[in-house]
Amino acid sequence: MSVLAVGTVAYDTISTPNKFQKNILGGSAAFFSIACSKFSKVSLMAVVGEDFYQKDTNLLEQNNIDLSGFETIQGETFKWSGEYFGKNLKDRKTIKTQLNVLSKFNPILSKKHKKSNYLFLANMSPETQLSVLKQFDSRPNLVVMDTMNFWIENNYYSLLKMINTTDVILVDTGEAMQITSEKNIKDAGEKLLQLGPSIVIIKEGELGSTVFSKEFTFSVPAFKVPEVIDPTGAGDSFAGGLLGYLSQTKSTYSQNTLKEALKYATILGSFAVESFSVNQLAKINLNEIKLRINNL
Ligand code: AMP
Repeated sequence: MSVLAVGTVAYDTISTPNKFQKNILGGSAAFFSIACSKFSKVSLMAVVGEDFYQKDTNLLEQNNIDLSGFETIQGETFKWSGEYFGKNLKDRKTIKTQLNVLSKFNPILSKKHKKSNYLFLANMSPETQLSVLKQFDSRPNLVVMDTMNFWIENNYYSLLKMINTTDVILVDTGEAMQITSEKNIKDAGEKLLQLGPSIVIIKEGELGSTVFSKEFTFSVPAFKVPEVIDPTGAGDSFAGGLLGYLSQTKSTYSQNTLKEALKYATILGSFAVESFSVNQLAKINLNEIKLRINNL
């Protein structure tokens, strides 16, 4: 089953207590697509600037990602810089967000894109997320969205509209609390459900993740990696594992199917944190993923 991912492809600058990396390949849709490509064919829609290296386009191609909706336009690629600190680098501070070509991103779906069965609206402006969904003649089987502090702070009311129309929303603990103004996971999860989605997934870092729906709530533990090198993209890779697994099942979104999907999501997230950029994620195969699933 085909998956369409729309979001950012970026150059990230990352500081951790011991290391610093400048302008490395990142972006919500880049991490997602590489993770999801372990399971299904993914079409990636994103925009980059003229500074985007051919080697990075090649890497996406080598991961069997369809780039028919991947555009290069005049200007600089979207850039994000962040700093990590605390135990296992669990705390993050955004240093700078430079939208650059992202402010001109206006994705127009082709006939093929509109036939996608699964849609991932990765972290990007909620207005763009809404405009992508509007272009479908008939709604995809499943619409999953992500967001981040930048959009919660700057585009709150459009974000609420987007949350109202998605099937699944994925957010981390801080984002869930920021959107709902609640102070604990349970209240934030329930309030997010009231905003419209059928399923709310809150990622709690090394504490794992919790799923909320009207029928059930459950948690899945995190997979402990020997060393966290760079947490960037863990959430997007988590989403890639989740949708990748779901896109291969025929079932409805029962509790059991979701539990299994959450395991795959957790494992894809665990690979993402073991290197800078998409380095480790791009290397792994389904056998290595399954090995970790058995140890979760
Ligand atoms: P995650 O660690 O999964 O939350 O995702 C981090 C990725 O999201 C980085 O590679 C960034 O390039 C990208 N990113 C950061 N800020 C934004 C934003 N405001 N909109 C879209 N993507 C972003």
